[in-house]
Parts: sequence; structure tokens; C-alpha cells
Amino acid sequence: MNGQWQLRFLGVGNASAVELGSAAAVLEYDAAPMLLIDCGQEALTAYVTQYARMPDAVFITHAHFDHIGGCERLFYQALFDPARCGKVRLYCAAALVPILQSRLGDYPSPLAEGGANFWDAFQLVPVGRGFWHRGHWFDVFPVRHHLPNTAFGLALTGAFLWTGDTRPIADQIALLDDGKMLIAHDCGLLGNPSHTGLEDLLRDYSPATRRRMVLYHYASTADAEQLAAAGLRVAQRGEVMPLNAPIPALQACTRAWSN
Ligand SMILES: [Zn+2]
Repeated sequence: MNGQWQLRFLGVGNASAVELGSAAAVLEYDAAPMLLIDCGQEALTAYVTQYARMPDAVFITHAHFDHIGGCERLFYQALFDPARCGKVRLYCAAALVPILQSRLGDYPSPLAEGGANFWDAFQLVPVGRGFWHRGHWFDVFPVRHHLPNTAFGLALTGAFLWTGDTRPIADQIALLDDGKMLIAHDCGLLGNPSHTGLEDLLRDYSPATRRRMVLYHYASTADAEQLAAAGLRVAQRGEVMPLNAPIPALQACTRAWSN
């Protein structure tokens, strides 16, 4: 594959900053969507506005509703489309499956007239350390957001790493980083027990790593301006960033083993 890879930020806000969109991105190859990362309500609306269709594949980082709130709408759309029903790929860490079941799957009779289970509309793919999607290996790794093993990041080595909601995770990033790829990182102006703040970012990452970071999941435009004033790159809602081509999986594995 020799085309252009890019990452489109559908939303960059935290759970309260609805005007900035729910934090989510789309990996694109040659301007076509390949994988949606998180599916909050505003993210799904932004996706449909951008591509005039619903997503075929979604990776879920964790089960807060600003990251999964659009899944119910996706369920209804897919269930009544014979071409899509049962084929919308939903990748998530295996540890998240029981949580998604309680948040989404257990709702009594998702169809009022009965006859349908929530998961009928999807091809749920529980993943461990990663998954294959359209011939590419995506690494999945635990992050630090609420209880252990409830939130996960995603990386396509060589191209990008997406932290999801998290405190700093320098050790995880070091395992997957090729020194060139874009790192999309949770960051608000002020840190808290489940999110990274400016002070955390400056303390826990080297200047070289920060130069390849782009920040999202902030509280307001004013906060974004302050992060930018500190010399950091901040993603804007709707911004599209070019990516390096991913490193083929076998090479990526060899590189990880040699670290
Ligand atoms: Zn969250």
C-alpha cells in the first residue's frame, strides 16, 4: 500500500465539552475511512457528516458514554440494513466485553417488538494484545483511566499511537514508539486522577517525545490556547493530520523484541 495515511480528529473535547465534539478519530487511507476510534454521540454524527455513511469498523477504548454513546444508534442502523447487519466490526479489549455487556447489551429488549439481541447487529471482536484489520496489525495496550484493565490505547506502529483517556503512560509508549510516529495524547490544562494535565505531560515525557505529540480531550478552546502557548501541539476539531506509513507487522515485532 503506497497511498496516503492520515488521522482525522472528529472531536477533541472532554465529556463536558460537547461543543468540541466527543474525543474520537478516524484512520484514513487515501481519504477513505478505515477505522473509527471511539463512538460517542457527537463522534458518530461527525462521522456521518464527513463520509455520508455509518462506520464499518470501530475500536472502543473504554466504556464511558462519550466514547460509546453512539453505539446504540449504530445498532439500529445496522440491524435494519441486511447488507450491514452482523458485519459492523466492533474491536475491543476482551476485558471490556463484560462492561460493554452491562452498559449496552443488557438493555431489556433493544427492539420493542423483540426478536433482536444487541450484538446481532455487530461482529464483536474481543482482542488481547492487538488485532488484524484490513491486513494491518494494530497493537492494543492498557492505559491508566479509572480502574485497571478498563481502558485501552491503540497503535499502528510507524503511523500513530492513540492513548485514549489516560494519565501519562510513558512506559507503554516507549514499547511501541518508533521515534517518528504521531502520538495523540489525552491532555487537559489541569490533570486529575483519570486524565493527563499540562504539568504531567511536561514532567513525564521527554521534549523529543512531546514534539511528536498532538493533544486532545481538553475542556475548552481557552484551555487549548494555553496548552499551545506552552509550546504543545493541540488538535482542533475536524483537523486532519498526515501520518507516516505503518511499519509492516513482522518488522514491528522484530523491533519490539530487540528493544
Ligand atoms: Zn473516559
